[in-house]
Amino acid sequence: MVEHLEPEPFWAHFTQLTKIARPSRHEEPVIAHVTAWAAERGLRLRSDSTRNLVIDVPATPGREDAPMVVLQGHLDMVCERQPDSPNDPTEGRIELLRDGDWLTADGTTLGADDGVAIAAMMALVEDEQAPHGPLQLLMTVAEEVGLEGANGLDGSLLDGKILVNLDSEEDRKLTVGCAGSTDSWVRAPASRAPLDPSSVALSVTAEGGLGGHSGMQIQLGRANAIKYLGRALREVGAQVPLRLASLDGGKSRNAIPRDATAVIAVAAGDAERVRELLAQSEATIRDEYAKTDPDVSLVAADSEPPADAWTAAATDELLDVVALIPTGPLALSPDFDGLVETSTSLGEAITEGDVLTLHSLTRSSNDAAMPGVLGTLEAAARRAGGEVEFKHNYGGWRPNLDSPALAALRVAYDRSFDDTPIVTAVHAGLETAVIGDKVANLDMISFGPQIESPHSPDERVSIPTVERFWTLLVGFVDELSQPTNGHAR
Ligand SMILES: [Zn+2]
Repeated sequence: MVEHLEPEPFWAHFTQLTKIARPSRHEEPVIAHVTAWAAERGLRLRSDSTRNLVIDVPATPGREDAPMVVLQGHLDMVCERQPDSPNDPTEGRIELLRDGDWLTADGTTLGADDGVAIAAMMALVEDEQAPHGPLQLLMTVAEEVGLEGANGLDGSLLDGKILVNLDSEEDRKLTVGCAGSTDSWVRAPASRAPLDPSSVALSVTAEGGLGGHSGMQIQLGRANAIKYLGRALREVGAQVPLRLASLDGGKSRNAIPRDATAVIAVAAGDAERVRELLAQSEATIRDEYAKTDPDVSLVAADSEPPADAWTAAATDELLDVVALIPTGPLALSPDFDGLVETSTSLGEAITEGDVLTLHSLTRSSNDAAMPGVLGTLEAAARRAGGEVEFKHNYGGWRPNLDSPALAALRVAYDRSFDDTPIVTAVHAGLETAVIGDKVANLDMISFGPQIESPHSPDERVSIPTVERFWTLLVGFVDELSQPTNGHAR
C-alpha cells in the first residue's frame, strides 16, 4: 500500500505501527516495539512511572554543541471501528487503503494521530543524511484520554530547552500557543419547601441549538441552553411568581450545552400566562441568535408536580446565579486576528437535593488572565450563599512570536517551500501546555501533516503533506544545529 511512497523509511515505520495495538492506557505492545528499536541502536531509553518514554539520541558528527531539542508525540491512538468491519485497531489490525493522495484505513481509525510523530522520530534517527544536534524523543502515553500521560510526565527526564510537538493536523500551520484550563463547580444550596397543593408544574426545555466545542467554537455566537433557559425563567419570574424545582442540562464540560430542562411550579391560574411569557422570551432569544444559532427553542409541557421545590426567594437567588455565571469569549488574542485568548463556558447544571451545581470550564493562553475570571465565578457563588471548587488542569502555552525555535522553523520552511506558513495558536488544550507546566522555559512549537477526521473511521492523512512534514522536520533540526547559526546558540 505504501510501497514507492516517499520518504520510504518513514512509511515503513508507519506501516509497522499499524500492526501494533496501541489503545490509550494499553500501550505495552508499542512500548515494547520502541524499546527494542532503541536497544538495537544502543540508544538510552528511560521511562517514568506513567510509562512515558524518553530516548536520548546523540548529535550527528560536528553538531555536538548544538542545543538539545526534544521531539514529542504520543504513542496511543483512538481505536474506533465500523461495527461490521473485520479490522480492529485494539488488536493491531488496521488495513491501509490508498485513495488518490490520501491514505486511510478500511473501517477503522488510521492512527496517523499520532503515528506520524512516532514514525518520523524513528526515521529521523536512522537517516544518516539528516544532521541534527543532540535530541530527546519524548513519546507520551494516554494522550487521547485527557492528556493523562503528559499529566504524569516526570519533567526531570527532559534536558532540552526547545520542544517540537508533532501532533498538529494541518499542513502549513505552525502552532505556537494554546489555552490552559481550570474547571469550576459553583455549588449553591438553597431552601426548599413542599408545593402548595393548588400549584401546577411545567417542564421547560431549551433545545435545538448547535452546541460545539466549548473552546474552539466559543466565539461563534452559539446559544448556551442552560444560560438562555435561566434567562427566560428569570424574565417570567419577574412577572409571575414561580418556584424552581430543578434545573439540569449539558452533557460535558467540553461542549456548549444544547439541551437543558427546568421543572417549575406556578399557581394553577398563572399557567397560561407563564406559557405566554415563555413564548415572548423565546421570540427575543431566537431573534438574538437569528444569524448564529437559528433553531434554538423553548418548549413548555405539563409535568407531574414534584414533591417540593426551592422557595420563591431561593428561586430568585438561583436564577440570579445562573445569570451571573459568564459564558462565551472574554478576551481576544493580541497576537492573532480572531483568536480567542480567554473564554469561559458553563457546561453543566445539576440539581441534587437542595443544591444547584453549575460546572464551567475556563480557558486562557494567558495564565495571568485566569484569576479575574475565576474571581467572577467565586463572587457569583458567594452572592448565592454557596461556594466554588476549582480544579486547575494546566497552565496556558502563551505565544512567543520572538521565539528562536519559531525563527529557525521559518528559515527551514522558506528554504523548502514556496508558500508562506500560517503561524497561529489554538483555543483548546494540547499536550504542550501540560509539558510546559512541568519544564520551565521550554521554547515550544507544533506542526504536522494534514490529517482529517481523526478519532473516527474516516481518519485520513494526506500523503503529499507527509512528505512536506518530513522535509520541514529534517530542515528544522538541521537549521537548529548549524554551527554558524546565531539563534541556535
Ligand atoms: Zn493526537
